[in-house]
Amino acid sequence: MQDVIIIGGSYAGMAAALQLARARRRVLVIDAGQRRNRFAGHSHGFLGQDGVEPARIWAEARSQLEAYPTLRWVEGNASVISGHKDDFRVSTDSGADHTGRRVLLATGVVDQLADIPGLTERWGKSVFHCPYCHGYELDQGRIGVIASGPMSLHQAQMLPEWGTVTFLTNAALSLESEQRTDLIRRGVTIEEEPVARITGRAEVELRDGRTLPFAGLFIATRTTPASPVAGAAGCTLTETPMGTQIMTSESKETSVPGIFACGDVARAPHSVSLAVGDGAWAGAQLHRSLVWPES
Ligand SMILES: Cc1cc2nc3c(=O)[nH]c(=O)nc-3n(C[C@H](O)[C@H](O)[C@H](O)COP(=O)(O)OP(=O)(O)OC[C@H]3O[C@@H](n4cnc5c(N)ncnc54)[C@H](O)[C@@H]3O)c2cc1C
Repeated sequence: MQDVIIIGGSYAGMAAALQLARARRRVLVIDAGQRRNRFAGHSHGFLGQDGVEPARIWAEARSQLEAYPTLRWVEGNASVISGHKDDFRVSTDSGADHTGRRVLLATGVVDQLADIPGLTERWGKSVFHCPYCHGYELDQGRIGVIASGPMSLHQAQMLPEWGTVTFLTNAALSLESEQRTDLIRRGVTIEEEPVARITGRAEVELRDGRTLPFAGLFIATRTTPASPVAGAAGCTLTETPMGTQIMTSESKETSVPGIFACGDVARAPHSVSLAVGDGAWAGAQLHRSLVWPES
């Protein structure tokens, strides 16, 4: 019997595991190895690790964690959670069953990308969603913001901080006249011809045949939990402007007693720093719930 089974061994899950392992609690991490930022060559904005490869940050953290004798790591996909507080069972695709007193969901989210030819293969390389993560490297150059929904207006208003912006509405958004005035006041060029495809590094080919070259492109995505386990276990989900996430209390416990959640799947906005902070808090709260089970 583990004290805590953590589903998802990335930034949030590992930060929680660290707190629990340092309290000498038995922790099992089950991880499928599909971190959200695996498409990006470099991670930015995480203190002390700015510009480092995401895989390197993860590998160093994992090797530090595995030095703790009460921690076990299983590579695989957790598919079913059954049981109840103090007696959960987590089954993996390989057919193994693990038991634990608490469960932490740190499964992350997946990005639903707009269906634009050339976008998927450039995701994380020259097409991004987060200006704090990848805006600086565009060197104040030309930035294209491709509209995908209401959050795109916010991106177009914010990105002039990082370069000269063209807002490609791409038939995904119709602008009110005040929104148009506001964008123009911020120096944004509005382009209403639909996008045909993305070519080169970040060149946008429009349906009328024109090609607009950019240093980089931004597009807002909607996110959904990377795994259906939370919903299937009965955890309440909630909608945010960014997508669907697991609802938790202040102490990161879900609507199912004994199941906690942290990281991108349980908070917004999203970043490595915020996932790590949320994970560290969830780890401490899980520990508290083991020390004071009645509270
Ligand atoms: C292209 C791109 C670039 C980014 N760049 C940056 C950046 O430069 N700086 C920054 O701060 N943020 C960046 N981010 C955001 C960052 O990736 C996330 O905020 C961060 O990864 C969230 O960490 P997490 O631990 O919550 O989830 P994730 O890192 O997504 O990890 C979730 C883990 O859970 C595993 N998992 C899911 N379901 C199961 C299951 N059923 N069983 C077992 N394991 C499971 C997954 O395989 C994965 O390993 C970027 C995001 C994208 C999409």
